[in-house]
Amino acid sequence: MTDYDVIVIGAGFAGSLAARDLSLSGSRVLHLEARDRIGGRTWYKEFADTGHSVEFGGTWVCPDVQPHVKAVNDRYGLELVDSPMPQSFGYVLNNEMSASPFPIPMTEWCDFERALTYIDTNAARIRFGEEPLGQEGLDDLDVSFEEFFDRKSWPVYTREFILAWASFYFGAKPSEVSALHILSWVAGFENSAVGFFTGVSQKYAHGTKQAIEAITGESRAELRLQTVVTEIDHEADSVTVRTRAGEKFTARAVIVATPINTWSDIEFDPKLEGAYSEMAKEKQTGESTKIWALVGNQETPFYGVGSSTRIKWLATEYQIPQGNLMCGFGCEEAALDVEDSDAVAAAVKELLPSADVIAVDAHAWNRDEFANGTWMAYRPGQVMAYSRGLQEPVGRLVFAGSDLASGWAGWMDGALESGDRAAKYVQTLLTSELEVKPA
Ligand SMILES: Cc1cc2nc3c(=O)[nH]c(=O)nc-3n(C[C@H](O)[C@H](O)[C@H](O)COP(=O)(O)OP(=O)(O)OC[C@H]3O[C@@H](n4cnc5c(N)ncnc54)[C@H](O)[C@@H]3O)c2cc1C
Repeated sequence: MTDYDVIVIGAGFAGSLAARDLSLSGSRVLHLEARDRIGGRTWYKEFADTGHSVEFGGTWVCPDVQPHVKAVNDRYGLELVDSPMPQSFGYVLNNEMSASPFPIPMTEWCDFERALTYIDTNAARIRFGEEPLGQEGLDDLDVSFEEFFDRKSWPVYTREFILAWASFYFGAKPSEVSALHILSWVAGFENSAVGFFTGVSQKYAHGTKQAIEAITGESRAELRLQTVVTEIDHEADSVTVRTRAGEKFTARAVIVATPINTWSDIEFDPKLEGAYSEMAKEKQTGESTKIWALVGNQETPFYGVGSSTRIKWLATEYQIPQGNLMCGFGCEEAALDVEDSDAVAAAVKELLPSADVIAVDAHAWNRDEFANGTWMAYRPGQVMAYSRGLQEPVGRLVFAGSDLASGWAGWMDGALESGDRAAKYVQTLLTSELEVKPA
Protein backbone atom coordinates (compact mmCIF):
# COMPACT_ATOMS: atom_id res chain seq x y z
CA MET A 1 0.00 0.00 0.00
CA THR A 2 1.46 3.37 -1.00
CA ASP A 3 1.09 6.54 1.09
CA TYR A 4 -0.92 8.23 -1.68
CA ASP A 5 -2.50 7.38 -5.04
CA VAL A 6 -0.78 10.33 -6.70
CA ILE A 7 1.90 12.85 -5.86
CA VAL A 8 1.84 16.06 -7.89
CA ILE A 9 5.06 18.09 -7.82
CA GLY A 10 4.72 21.80 -8.50
CA ALA A 11 1.88 24.20 -7.67
CA GLY A 12 1.84 26.34 -10.78
CA PHE A 13 -1.24 26.26 -13.02
CA ALA A 14 -0.39 22.81 -14.46
CA GLY A 15 0.19 20.98 -11.19
CA SER A 16 -2.67 22.74 -9.41
CA LEU A 17 -5.20 21.81 -12.09
CA ALA A 18 -4.01 18.18 -12.11
CA ALA A 19 -4.10 17.98 -8.28
CA ARG A 20 -7.60 19.48 -8.24
CA ASP A 21 -9.04 17.11 -10.84
CA LEU A 22 -7.49 13.92 -9.46
CA SER A 23 -8.46 14.75 -5.88
CA LEU A 24 -12.01 15.65 -6.92
CA SER A 25 -12.35 12.31 -8.66
CA GLY A 26 -11.53 10.51 -5.42
CA SER A 27 -7.76 9.90 -5.51
CA ARG A 28 -5.62 10.50 -2.42
CA VAL A 29 -3.36 13.28 -3.72
CA LEU A 30 -0.27 14.81 -2.13
CA HIS A 31 0.68 18.14 -3.74
CA LEU A 32 4.27 19.28 -3.14
CA GLU A 33 5.55 22.80 -3.83
CA ALA A 34 9.07 24.12 -3.27
CA ARG A 35 8.14 27.78 -2.72
CA ASP A 36 6.28 29.32 0.19
CA ARG A 37 3.46 30.25 -2.21
CA ILE A 38 1.42 28.75 -5.04
CA GLY A 39 1.38 30.13 -8.60
CA GLY A 40 4.91 29.33 -9.81
CA ARG A 41 5.86 31.58 -12.71
CA THR A 42 2.86 33.81 -12.02
CA TRP A 43 3.19 36.16 -9.07
CA TYR A 44 0.78 39.01 -8.32
CA LYS A 45 2.11 41.25 -5.59
CA GLU A 46 2.44 44.85 -4.51
CA PHE A 47 4.67 47.20 -6.47
CA ALA A 48 7.06 49.28 -4.33
CA ASP A 49 4.78 50.34 -1.44
CA THR A 50 2.26 51.91 -3.80
CA GLY A 51 -0.67 49.86 -2.53
CA HIS A 52 -1.05 48.65 -6.11
CA SER A 53 -0.33 45.05 -7.11
CA VAL A 54 1.09 43.99 -10.47
CA GLU A 55 2.06 40.73 -12.17
CA PHE A 56 5.75 39.94 -11.80
CA GLY A 57 5.29 36.83 -13.96
CA GLY A 58 2.52 35.64 -16.32
CA THR A 59 -0.07 38.34 -16.99
CA TRP A 60 -2.14 38.37 -20.18
CA VAL A 61 -4.75 35.82 -21.14
CA CYS A 62 -6.69 35.55 -24.38
CA PRO A 63 -9.83 33.51 -23.62
CA ASP A 64 -11.21 34.03 -27.14
CA VAL A 65 -8.49 31.73 -28.47
CA GLN A 66 -7.35 29.98 -25.24
CA PRO A 67 -9.96 27.36 -24.33
CA HIS A 68 -8.38 26.16 -21.08
CA VAL A 69 -8.11 29.67 -19.67
CA LYS A 70 -11.70 30.31 -20.74
CA ALA A 71 -12.87 27.17 -18.93
CA VAL A 72 -11.17 28.30 -15.69
CA ASN A 73 -12.52 31.85 -16.01
CA ASP A 74 -16.06 30.56 -16.60
CA ARG A 75 -15.89 28.02 -13.77
CA TYR A 76 -14.83 30.60 -11.17
CA GLY A 77 -16.38 33.73 -12.67
CA LEU A 78 -13.01 35.49 -12.95
CA GLU A 79 -13.08 39.06 -14.17
CA LEU A 80 -10.68 40.42 -16.82
CA VAL A 81 -9.62 44.01 -17.55
CA ASP A 82 -8.11 45.53 -20.69
CA SER A 83 -4.64 46.99 -20.86
CA PRO A 84 -4.90 50.76 -21.54
CA MET A 85 -5.03 51.94 -25.15
CA PRO A 86 -1.75 53.80 -25.82
CA GLN A 87 -1.87 57.47 -26.73
CA SER A 88 1.84 58.24 -26.92
CA PHE A 89 4.54 56.20 -28.62
CA GLY A 90 8.27 55.69 -28.75
CA TYR A 91 9.99 53.43 -31.25
CA VAL A 92 13.72 52.95 -31.63
CA LEU A 93 14.36 51.33 -35.00
CA ASN A 94 17.37 51.78 -37.26
CA ASN A 95 18.93 53.76 -34.36
CA GLU A 96 16.33 56.50 -34.77
CA MET A 97 13.65 57.54 -32.33
CA SER A 98 10.10 57.98 -33.57
CA ALA A 99 6.98 59.06 -31.68
CA SER A 100 4.64 58.13 -34.52
CA PRO A 101 1.89 55.57 -33.68
CA PHE A 102 3.10 53.36 -36.55
CA PRO A 103 6.88 53.12 -36.93
CA ILE A 104 7.14 51.75 -40.47
CA PRO A 105 7.75 54.45 -43.12
CA MET A 106 5.31 54.54 -46.03
CA THR A 107 8.04 53.43 -48.43
CA GLU A 108 8.08 50.06 -46.60
CA TRP A 109 4.35 49.44 -46.22
CA CYS A 110 4.24 46.87 -49.03
CA ASP A 111 7.22 45.04 -47.54
CA PHE A 112 5.67 45.12 -44.09
CA GLU A 113 2.48 43.58 -45.46
CA ARG A 114 4.60 41.00 -47.33
CA ALA A 115 6.35 40.14 -44.04
CA LEU A 116 3.05 39.60 -42.24
CA THR A 117 1.81 37.42 -45.10
CA TYR A 118 5.04 35.38 -44.99
CA ILE A 119 4.56 34.79 -41.26
CA ASP A 120 0.83 34.07 -41.48
CA THR A 121 1.18 31.66 -44.41
CA ASN A 122 3.81 29.60 -42.67
CA ALA A 123 1.86 29.65 -39.39
CA ALA A 124 -1.12 28.23 -41.27
CA ARG A 125 0.86 25.05 -41.94
CA ILE A 126 0.65 24.18 -38.22
CA ARG A 127 -2.24 22.06 -36.92
CA PHE A 128 -2.45 24.21 -33.83
CA GLY A 129 -3.14 22.50 -30.53
CA GLU A 130 -4.31 19.26 -32.11
CA GLU A 131 -1.10 17.38 -31.38
CA PRO A 132 2.43 18.20 -30.21
CA LEU A 133 4.13 20.88 -32.27
CA GLY A 134 6.72 18.56 -33.82
CA GLN A 135 4.41 17.73 -36.72
CA GLU A 136 5.33 16.04 -39.96
CA GLY A 137 6.48 18.38 -42.71
CA LEU A 138 7.49 21.29 -40.48
CA ASP A 139 11.26 20.64 -40.22
CA ASP A 140 12.09 23.66 -42.35
CA LEU A 141 10.48 25.92 -39.72
CA ASP A 142 12.42 24.52 -36.76
CA VAL A 143 15.34 26.87 -37.38
CA SER A 144 16.06 30.14 -35.62
CA PHE A 145 13.47 32.86 -36.21
CA GLU A 146 16.21 35.03 -37.65
CA GLU A 147 17.19 32.35 -40.18
CA PHE A 148 13.54 31.78 -41.11
CA PHE A 149 12.81 35.48 -41.53
CA ASP A 150 16.01 36.23 -43.44
CA ARG A 151 15.20 33.64 -46.10
CA LYS A 152 13.65 36.68 -47.77
CA SER A 153 15.13 40.12 -47.89
CA TRP A 154 13.55 42.98 -45.99
CA PRO A 155 14.10 46.71 -45.69
CA VAL A 156 15.52 47.89 -42.39
CA TYR A 157 12.48 49.11 -40.39
CA THR A 158 10.39 46.09 -41.28
CA ARG A 159 13.19 43.70 -40.36
CA GLU A 160 14.04 45.41 -37.07
CA PHE A 161 10.40 45.70 -35.99
CA ILE A 162 9.61 42.04 -36.69
CA LEU A 163 12.78 40.77 -35.00
CA ALA A 164 12.16 43.00 -31.95
CA TRP A 165 8.60 41.66 -31.78
CA ALA A 166 9.84 38.08 -31.89
CA SER A 167 12.41 38.72 -29.19
CA PHE A 168 10.16 40.38 -26.61
CA TYR A 169 7.38 37.85 -27.08
CA PHE A 170 9.77 34.96 -26.62
CA GLY A 171 12.17 36.45 -24.13
CA ALA A 172 14.98 35.24 -26.36
CA LYS A 173 17.19 36.56 -29.13
CA PRO A 174 15.71 35.83 -32.60
CA SER A 175 18.87 33.89 -33.40
CA GLU A 176 18.27 31.55 -30.46
CA VAL A 177 14.58 30.69 -30.59
CA SER A 178 12.77 28.29 -32.93
CA ALA A 179 10.67 29.96 -35.64
CA LEU A 180 8.29 27.01 -35.46
CA HIS A 181 7.49 27.81 -31.84
CA ILE A 182 6.96 31.51 -32.61
CA LEU A 183 4.78 30.68 -35.59
CA SER A 184 2.67 28.37 -33.41
CA TRP A 185 1.49 31.37 -31.40
CA VAL A 186 0.56 33.18 -34.62
CA ALA A 187 -1.32 29.99 -35.57
CA GLY A 188 -3.12 30.22 -32.22
CA PHE A 189 -4.29 33.70 -33.17
CA GLU A 190 -6.01 32.15 -36.20
CA ASN A 191 -2.93 32.55 -38.39
CA SER A 192 -2.77 36.28 -37.92
CA ALA A 193 0.35 38.12 -36.78
CA VAL A 194 -1.74 41.29 -36.55
CA GLY A 195 -4.24 39.36 -34.42
CA PHE A 196 -1.27 38.49 -32.21
CA PHE A 197 0.04 42.11 -32.05
CA THR A 198 -3.35 43.36 -30.95
CA GLY A 199 -4.86 40.33 -29.20
CA VAL A 200 -2.71 40.23 -26.08
CA SER A 201 -4.63 42.85 -24.15
CA GLN A 202 -6.54 41.31 -21.25
CA LYS A 203 -5.43 40.42 -17.74
CA TYR A 204 -7.06 39.27 -14.52
CA ALA A 205 -8.76 42.18 -12.71
CA HIS A 206 -7.70 40.77 -9.35
CA GLY A 207 -4.50 39.14 -10.53
CA THR A 208 -3.46 35.61 -11.44
CA LYS A 209 -3.43 35.04 -7.68
CA GLN A 210 -7.22 34.90 -7.72
CA ALA A 211 -7.20 32.32 -10.53
CA ILE A 212 -4.65 30.00 -8.92
CA GLU A 213 -6.31 30.35 -5.52
CA ALA A 214 -9.66 29.43 -7.05
CA ILE A 215 -8.21 26.23 -8.52
CA THR A 216 -6.35 25.29 -5.34
CA GLY A 217 -9.32 26.26 -3.18
CA GLU A 218 -11.48 23.65 -4.89
CA SER A 219 -8.81 20.95 -4.71
CA ARG A 220 -8.98 18.28 -2.02
CA ALA A 221 -5.28 17.45 -2.36
CA GLU A 222 -3.02 17.75 0.67
CA LEU A 223 -0.84 20.73 -0.25
CA ARG A 224 2.58 21.13 1.33
CA LEU A 225 4.55 24.32 0.61
CA GLN A 226 8.31 24.76 1.11
CA THR A 227 8.84 21.13 0.17
CA VAL A 228 11.61 20.76 -2.39
CA VAL A 229 11.66 17.43 -4.21
CA THR A 230 15.19 16.18 -4.81
CA GLU A 231 14.78 12.51 -5.83
CA ILE A 232 12.24 10.39 -7.65
CA ASP A 233 12.63 6.60 -7.77
CA HIS A 234 10.14 5.18 -10.23
CA GLU A 235 9.62 1.45 -10.20
CA ALA A 236 7.24 -0.97 -11.86
CA ASP A 237 4.63 -0.87 -9.10
CA SER A 238 5.17 2.41 -7.25
CA VAL A 239 7.08 5.70 -7.12
CA THR A 240 9.08 7.07 -4.18
CA VAL A 241 9.65 10.80 -3.81
CA ARG A 242 12.29 12.24 -1.49
CA THR A 243 12.59 15.84 -0.36
CA ARG A 244 15.44 18.15 0.58
CA ALA A 245 14.32 17.92 4.21
CA GLY A 246 14.72 14.14 4.14
CA GLU A 247 11.06 13.16 3.95
CA LYS A 248 9.95 10.20 1.84
CA PHE A 249 6.54 9.59 0.26
CA THR A 250 5.27 6.79 -1.96
CA ALA A 251 2.49 6.80 -4.54
CA ARG A 252 1.13 4.76 -7.42
CA ALA A 253 1.81 7.60 -9.87
CA VAL A 254 3.65 10.93 -9.90
CA ILE A 255 3.05 14.04 -11.98
CA VAL A 256 6.16 16.20 -12.35
CA ALA A 257 4.78 19.69 -13.07
CA THR A 258 8.02 21.64 -12.64
CA PRO A 259 9.77 23.80 -15.28
CA ILE A 260 12.03 22.02 -17.80
CA ASN A 261 14.96 24.22 -16.75
CA THR A 262 14.80 22.76 -13.23
CA TRP A 263 14.57 19.08 -14.14
CA SER A 264 18.32 18.56 -13.86
CA ASP A 265 18.08 19.43 -10.14
CA ILE A 266 16.01 16.30 -9.44
CA GLU A 267 17.71 12.91 -9.38
CA PHE A 268 15.63 10.32 -11.23
CA ASP A 269 16.21 6.60 -10.75
CA PRO A 270 16.19 5.05 -13.32
CA LYS A 271 17.65 8.09 -15.10
CA LEU A 272 15.54 9.98 -17.60
CA GLU A 273 16.10 9.09 -21.23
CA GLY A 274 15.39 10.43 -24.72
CA ALA A 275 13.57 13.75 -25.00
CA TYR A 276 13.46 14.16 -21.21
CA SER A 277 17.18 13.77 -20.61
CA GLU A 278 18.07 15.88 -23.67
CA MET A 279 15.77 18.76 -22.66
CA ALA A 280 16.95 18.55 -19.03
CA LYS A 281 20.49 19.01 -20.36
CA GLU A 282 19.96 21.51 -23.19
CA LYS A 283 17.21 23.50 -21.43
CA GLN A 284 14.79 25.87 -23.15
CA THR A 285 16.05 29.33 -24.06
CA GLY A 286 13.47 31.77 -22.61
CA GLU A 287 15.29 34.34 -20.48
CA SER A 288 13.10 37.40 -20.60
CA THR A 289 13.82 40.30 -18.30
CA LYS A 290 10.45 41.67 -17.20
CA ILE A 291 10.49 44.95 -15.28
CA TRP A 292 8.00 47.39 -13.75
CA ALA A 293 8.64 51.13 -13.57
CA LEU A 294 6.61 53.94 -12.02
CA VAL A 295 7.01 56.98 -14.27
CA GLY A 296 5.86 60.20 -12.64
CA ASN A 297 5.68 62.71 -15.45
CA GLN A 298 3.87 60.72 -18.14
CA GLU A 299 0.33 61.98 -18.76
CA THR A 300 -0.99 59.49 -21.30
CA PRO A 301 -0.60 55.70 -21.69
CA PHE A 302 2.67 54.98 -23.49
CA TYR A 303 3.69 52.19 -25.89
CA GLY A 304 7.21 51.64 -27.24
CA VAL A 305 9.28 49.05 -29.08
CA GLY A 306 13.02 49.11 -29.71
CA SER A 307 15.38 46.83 -31.60
CA SER A 308 18.74 47.93 -30.16
CA THR A 309 17.38 48.93 -26.73
CA ARG A 310 17.80 46.75 -23.64
CA ILE A 311 14.05 46.82 -23.08
CA LYS A 312 12.40 45.72 -26.33
CA TRP A 313 8.83 46.58 -25.35
CA LEU A 314 7.53 49.08 -22.80
CA ALA A 315 3.91 50.00 -22.13
CA THR A 316 1.69 51.63 -19.53
CA GLU A 317 -0.33 48.96 -17.78
CA TYR A 318 -1.93 51.03 -15.03
CA GLN A 319 -2.43 54.72 -14.36
CA ILE A 320 -2.29 55.24 -10.61
CA PRO A 321 -2.27 58.49 -8.59
CA GLN A 322 1.55 58.48 -8.43
CA GLY A 323 1.97 58.16 -12.23
CA ASN A 324 2.09 55.62 -15.06
CA LEU A 325 2.95 52.10 -13.99
CA MET A 326 4.81 50.65 -16.97
CA CYS A 327 5.77 47.11 -17.79
CA GLY A 328 8.80 46.28 -19.94
CA PHE A 329 10.42 43.19 -21.44
CA GLY A 330 14.00 42.59 -22.54
CA CYS A 331 15.26 39.35 -24.00
CA GLU A 332 18.72 38.82 -22.54
CA GLU A 333 19.69 38.20 -18.94
CA ALA A 334 23.24 39.41 -19.69
CA ALA A 335 22.02 42.75 -21.07
CA LEU A 336 20.02 43.92 -18.05
CA ASP A 337 20.26 43.07 -14.37
CA VAL A 338 16.65 43.53 -13.30
CA GLU A 339 17.73 43.92 -9.66
CA ASP A 340 19.94 46.93 -10.51
CA SER A 341 17.50 49.84 -10.17
CA ASP A 342 19.77 52.40 -11.86
CA ALA A 343 20.32 50.12 -14.86
CA VAL A 344 16.58 49.47 -15.20
CA ALA A 345 15.73 53.19 -14.96
CA ALA A 346 18.36 53.94 -17.62
CA ALA A 347 16.97 51.17 -19.84
CA VAL A 348 13.46 52.67 -19.56
CA LYS A 349 14.86 56.00 -20.73
CA GLU A 350 16.23 54.39 -23.89
CA LEU A 351 12.61 54.14 -25.07
CA LEU A 352 11.17 57.09 -23.15
CA PRO A 353 13.99 59.64 -22.64
CA SER A 354 11.77 62.11 -20.75
CA ALA A 355 10.75 59.52 -18.15
CA ASP A 356 10.95 60.57 -14.51
CA VAL A 357 11.44 57.07 -13.10
CA ILE A 358 10.27 57.13 -9.47
CA ALA A 359 10.62 53.43 -8.64
CA VAL A 360 11.36 50.11 -10.36
CA ASP A 361 10.88 46.48 -9.40
CA ALA A 362 11.20 43.03 -10.95
CA HIS A 363 11.72 39.39 -10.08
CA ALA A 364 14.92 37.76 -11.36
CA TRP A 365 13.30 34.61 -12.79
CA ASN A 366 16.51 33.58 -14.54
CA ARG A 367 18.26 33.34 -11.17
CA ASP A 368 15.29 31.78 -9.36
CA GLU A 369 16.21 28.17 -8.58
CA PHE A 370 12.63 26.94 -9.07
CA ALA A 371 12.22 28.52 -12.51
CA ASN A 372 15.72 29.02 -13.90
CA GLY A 373 14.30 30.92 -16.85
CA THR A 374 11.06 32.56 -17.88
CA TRP A 375 8.46 31.07 -20.22
CA MET A 376 8.93 28.26 -22.71
CA ALA A 377 10.97 29.10 -25.82
CA TYR A 378 12.24 26.12 -27.79
CA ARG A 379 15.73 26.43 -29.22
CA PRO A 380 16.09 25.80 -32.98
CA GLY A 381 15.78 22.04 -33.62
CA GLN A 382 14.25 21.20 -30.24
CA VAL A 383 10.62 21.21 -31.38
CA MET A 384 11.00 18.48 -34.00
CA ALA A 385 13.43 16.49 -31.87
CA TYR A 386 11.64 16.52 -28.52
CA SER A 387 8.12 17.98 -28.37
CA ARG A 388 6.43 14.63 -29.07
CA GLY A 389 8.62 12.66 -26.67
CA LEU A 390 7.93 15.17 -23.88
CA GLN A 391 4.31 14.08 -23.79
CA GLU A 392 5.04 10.34 -23.50
CA PRO A 393 4.53 9.06 -19.95
CA VAL A 394 7.44 7.15 -18.39
CA GLY A 395 5.61 4.28 -16.70
CA ARG A 396 4.14 5.76 -13.53
CA LEU A 397 5.74 9.15 -14.14
CA VAL A 398 4.00 11.82 -16.19
CA PHE A 399 5.42 15.24 -16.91
CA ALA A 400 3.22 18.31 -17.13
CA GLY A 401 3.62 22.06 -17.50
CA SER A 402 3.19 24.86 -19.94
CA ASP A 403 6.63 24.01 -21.32
CA LEU A 404 5.21 20.75 -22.72
CA ALA A 405 1.91 21.96 -24.13
CA SER A 406 0.76 21.21 -27.67
CA GLY A 407 -0.90 24.57 -28.24
CA TRP A 408 0.05 27.48 -26.03
CA ALA A 409 3.46 26.28 -24.83
CA GLY A 410 4.76 29.23 -22.79
CA TRP A 411 1.36 30.48 -21.64
CA MET A 412 -0.94 29.80 -18.69
CA ASP A 413 -3.33 28.18 -21.14
CA GLY A 414 -0.62 25.67 -22.07
CA ALA A 415 -0.08 24.86 -18.38
CA LEU A 416 -3.78 24.12 -17.97
CA GLU A 417 -3.87 22.04 -21.17
CA SER A 418 -0.93 19.97 -20.00
CA GLY A 419 -2.19 19.58 -16.41
CA ASP A 420 -5.50 18.34 -17.77
CA ARG A 421 -3.77 15.78 -20.01
CA ALA A 422 -1.56 14.50 -17.19
CA ALA A 423 -4.52 14.13 -14.82
CA LYS A 424 -6.49 12.18 -17.43
CA TYR A 425 -3.55 9.85 -18.08
CA VAL A 426 -3.09 9.13 -14.37
CA GLN A 427 -6.83 8.68 -13.86
CA THR A 428 -6.89 6.07 -16.63
CA LEU A 429 -3.81 4.33 -15.21
CA LEU A 430 -5.26 4.14 -11.70
CA THR A 431 -8.68 3.03 -12.89
CA SER A 432 -7.30 0.30 -15.16
CA GLU A 433 -5.23 -1.06 -12.26
CA LEU A 434 -8.25 -1.11 -9.97
CA GLU A 435 -10.16 -3.04 -12.61
CA VAL A 436 -7.39 -5.65 -12.78
CA LYS A 437 -6.76 -5.84 -9.00
CA PRO A 438 -9.81 -4.68 -7.05
CA ALA A 439 -8.66 -3.03 -3.79
C1 LIG B 1 8.02 37.10 -16.62
C2 LIG B 1 6.98 36.17 -17.17
C3 LIG B 1 5.97 36.68 -17.95
C4 LIG B 1 4.97 35.83 -18.49
N1 LIG B 1 3.92 36.36 -19.20
C5 LIG B 1 2.87 35.55 -19.53
C6 LIG B 1 1.65 36.09 -20.02
O1 LIG B 1 1.52 37.31 -20.15
N2 LIG B 1 0.64 35.24 -20.32
C7 LIG B 1 0.73 33.89 -20.13
O2 LIG B 1 -0.24 33.15 -20.38
N3 LIG B 1 1.88 33.35 -19.66
C8 LIG B 1 2.93 34.14 -19.33
N4 LIG B 1 4.06 33.61 -18.78
C9 LIG B 1 4.19 32.16 -18.73
C10 LIG B 1 3.34 31.51 -17.66
O3 LIG B 1 3.43 32.24 -16.46
C11 LIG B 1 3.88 30.09 -17.44
O4 LIG B 1 3.99 29.43 -18.68
C12 LIG B 1 2.96 29.27 -16.57
O5 LIG B 1 2.54 30.00 -15.44
C13 LIG B 1 3.72 28.02 -16.17
O6 LIG B 1 2.91 27.20 -15.34
P1 LIG B 1 3.45 25.75 -14.95
O7 LIG B 1 2.51 25.23 -13.96
O8 LIG B 1 3.73 24.97 -16.17
O9 LIG B 1 4.89 26.02 -14.29
P2 LIG B 1 5.28 26.90 -13.02
O10 LIG B 1 4.33 28.03 -12.86
O11 LIG B 1 6.71 27.23 -13.15
O12 LIG B 1 5.04 25.92 -11.80
C14 LIG B 1 6.00 24.94 -11.47
C15 LIG B 1 6.09 24.87 -9.96
O13 LIG B 1 7.04 23.85 -9.60
C16 LIG B 1 7.74 24.29 -8.46
N5 LIG B 1 8.99 23.52 -8.36
C17 LIG B 1 10.10 23.62 -9.12
N6 LIG B 1 11.02 22.73 -8.72
C18 LIG B 1 10.47 22.05 -7.68
C19 LIG B 1 10.94 21.00 -6.85
N7 LIG B 1 12.15 20.46 -7.02
N8 LIG B 1 10.12 20.52 -5.87
C20 LIG B 1 8.89 21.05 -5.68
N9 LIG B 1 8.40 22.04 -6.46
C21 LIG B 1 9.18 22.54 -7.45
C22 LIG B 1 7.95 25.76 -8.72
O14 LIG B 1 8.23 26.46 -7.52
C23 LIG B 1 6.61 26.16 -9.34
O15 LIG B 1 5.70 26.63 -8.37
C24 LIG B 1 5.05 34.44 -18.24
C25 LIG B 1 6.07 33.93 -17.43
C26 LIG B 1 7.02 34.79 -16.90
C27 LIG B 1 8.11 34.21 -16.02
